Amino acid sequence: MTIEAVEEVMAHKITCEECIVCGACSTECPGEAIIEGKDCYVIDPKKCNDCGACADICPQECIVAPEE
Ligand code: SF4
Ligand code: SF4
Repeated sequence: MTIEAVEEVMAHKITCEECIVCGACSTECPGEAIIEGKDCYVIDPKKCNDCGACADICPQECIVAPEE
């Protein structure tokens, strides 16, 4: 497994089906790791440091930590 693949597994993830595209997570992220995708916001696993700020602010609670 490459290092990049490990990071992808470890990073926070947005459950796209539940995201209402409000943008709150993107504003909250200190690493600018969250961008608006085609159907929902998406987290760049290479920029995410797993601080959890996005998961705390999300009104849909659809951002999951890697250990969950
Ligand atoms: S866990 Fe922190 S660094 Fe990762 S996407 Fe969420 S707010 Fe950004
Ligand atoms: S805060 Fe939650 S609902 Fe809002 S854009 Fe981010 S993931 Fe989607």
